[in-house]
Amino acid sequence: MIKNREKRIRRMKRTNVWIFILAYIVISLLGIGVSMLMMMFTDEYVVNSKIAKEYSKVEKMTGVYSGLRKLGTDEGAVKDLISGSFESFAVLDKDGKVKFGSNYDGLGEYESYFNLEGIDSNIRLYRSDDNKIMTVNEDHRITTTGDLQSVISYLVHSLNEEDLEKAHSVVSEQSENDQGVELYQVTVDSTADPDDESDVDTEKILEMTKIISKKFTLPLWLGCEAESGDIVVVRCPVEINTYDLAVYIGIILSFYLIFYLLFLVFIITIIVTLVNQRINLNLYFTDTITRLPNRNMFLYNGEKLVRKRRNLNKTYAVVSIEFMKYNNFCLCHSMKEGEDVLTKMHKILRSNMVRGEIAAHMTIAEFALLVNYNSQEDTEERIRKILKQMDDIDPDHSFIFHVGIKVIPSAQETPEDPRRKDFDLEIEYNNACTARISLDDKDDTKINFFDDKLIEEQQWEDKILENQNRAVENEEFVVYYQPKYDPNTDKLTGAEALIRWDSPSLGFVSPGRFIPQFEKSGFITEIDHYMLSHVASDQKKWLDMGYECVPVSVNVSRAHFIENDLAEQIRDIVDKAGAPRHLIEIELTESAFFDDKNALIDIINRLKEYGFIVSMDDFGSGYSSLNSLKDIPLDVLKLDAGFFSGDISDDRSGIVVSETIRLAKSLNMKTVAEGVEAREQVEFLAAKGCDMIQGYYYSKPLPGNEYEQKMEKNS
Ligand code: C2E
Ligand code: CA
Ligand code: CA
Repeated sequence: MIKNREKRIRRMKRTNVWIFILAYIVISLLGIGVSMLMMMFTDEYVVNSKIAKEYSKVEKMTGVYSGLRKLGTDEGAVKDLISGSFESFAVLDKDGKVKFGSNYDGLGEYESYFNLEGIDSNIRLYRSDDNKIMTVNEDHRITTTGDLQSVISYLVHSLNEEDLEKAHSVVSEQSENDQGVELYQVTVDSTADPDDESDVDTEKILEMTKIISKKFTLPLWLGCEAESGDIVVVRCPVEINTYDLAVYIGIILSFYLIFYLLFLVFIITIIVTLVNQRINLNLYFTDTITRLPNRNMFLYNGEKLVRKRRNLNKTYAVVSIEFMKYNNFCLCHSMKEGEDVLTKMHKILRSNMVRGEIAAHMTIAEFALLVNYNSQEDTEERIRKILKQMDDIDPDHSFIFHVGIKVIPSAQETPEDPRRKDFDLEIEYNNACTARISLDDKDDTKINFFDDKLIEEQQWEDKILENQNRAVENEEFVVYYQPKYDPNTDKLTGAEALIRWDSPSLGFVSPGRFIPQFEKSGFITEIDHYMLSHVASDQKKWLDMGYECVPVSVNVSRAHFIENDLAEQIRDIVDKAGAPRHLIEIELTESAFFDDKNALIDIINRLKEYGFIVSMDDFGSGYSSLNSLKDIPLDVLKLDAGFFSGDISDDRSGIVVSETIRLAKSLNMKTVAEGVEAREQVEFLAAKGCDMIQGYYYSKPLPGNEYEQKMEKNS
């Protein structure tokens, strides 16, 4: 139970914050990944495309360089030629040493050269045998002629962006040509594909940004390896404009923005979750009527409090307080007023609590306290003072409270559970309730402390409840007969039917252990019917067997008297069994006479009319019902066994007994003395004119077969 409660509360306290954090981390990582990809793409797109263009120039130049070297052109001429196209360059040998170049001071700062992959080189250069040079286009047509220098110059100068993009491969190898020209191959780049849209876009963008933005230049050296193994390194001014930067910054900013928004959503979700959790917990712990702590709070916090290490040596008291007749109060006033009173009571209870004590509203008219305990007297006094304050809420009204208290001993006093690990406040509260419920005087404020006997009683009650119906079905209830004798003649003149429970699970149980509970639960009516029909059947059987039957009295509980047709029910049961009505006596307890007197008189009259004998049981045991005697037409008065517990011959109860016998006689009633055990008592009663004696002196209650032996046979 306690585990379930804790689980429930833990579940309520648990937030999905971790899920949110995890989701946030995953999304962030994804975002970082995507943004890096985007930046790489942009980098590729913006920078690499620019570098690629520059590189293609360098590559072409390297091709030219290779061609010139093959032609045997000297370094000086080559240097001049390259200088014509590139302001800063250097030609390095295989070991990376500068062979020659111009304005290459900044080169040393770079340790590696930029290389691009995937660039084809396919413009070729030819030389005729008379040292004349011509270039050949795709259609193998000579487009340029002239000396080597002028052709190279033409080529290099023609290497502007547009040409490069348009440029495509030229001519296959081979020397034979109509004019007998000797062909040399010089590799020149033609990266750009004129059909490539991205290039076209780049162009457009470049055009636009030229107008709208400033440019700045990356100091970049690009190198390309010539056929000879030399490396031509050229300073390429790669231009980056603010548009490119804007794209960069835009991408980064938009990702920052997304993260920021995500973060906001994340924070808001956590806040909303925490607020909801608080609201739920508050609802869970708050009473709907008094708006103060409720049962959940009492059990959860109370248990934690008692189990705290520093409280282990404290003794506590769990108190259950019921505001009695709360429903009546609401009926006479209103529900609203009733709830107001409950709220005021709860406030008073709370104001009386000190630190480390709890007051809660449990159910409709029930409160619970967990308070420190010193002694039974102190606790009782304290509770009475609190109840007094609660009673003072309405000066016109006197409130009644029933209080049950269960003491929780300190851990020292419970060596079997020194850490209070097995402590369950719900069980202890239930024990306090048991102590409260066992109070039966509903008209007075009462306090009852729990003791272990109450548990036994409750367990016993539970067992009875569990078994009672089956017991009727299985006829586990047995009728015992206690004979009644005439003290003058010692003749059997009657008997009382007394129930016994021969239960396979509970053993042989006497009525004192179950009748009071049956009376409480109402099951007694069933039992009385059972007894009546069994007694009637027995009487019929014995008559048939030829026994001289005497009237047998059957106890009928007061619970029956709310049934208007009780007399008819009894008549029908007896008739059904076939027993003569005059052989059945109905015993009513004295307490029955305090209910609706007129209804009772009516029932008794009818019973007598039908031919039954009616007697009053336990006369003199409770309140005096002398007054009832004058109105109620009874046949027999059964003097309570309490009169015969001591010596009656010379004490006051003897006087009461003899006067009662006299009174009964004058009212035309017979008398039966119950619980008579001694011979002197029998003699005394005989002398005073008592008609019958039922007691151990003559006989204990007997099972049917033994009782048979007490009856005489006529046949
Ligand atoms: P009761 O009706 O007053 O029954 C008399 C009780 O006194 C019986 O106890 C009987 O055994 C006992 N008794 C008789 N003579 C003596 C004696 O000389 N000395 C002592 N010490 N006791 C004597 P029992 O049978 O245990 O019944 C107890 C009560 O249970 C009865 O009191 C009656 O109130 C109730 N009860 C028994 N059977 C029934 C029943 O069938 N229906 C109802 N409604 N109540 C029953
Ligand atoms: Ca009786
Ligand atoms: Ca009795």
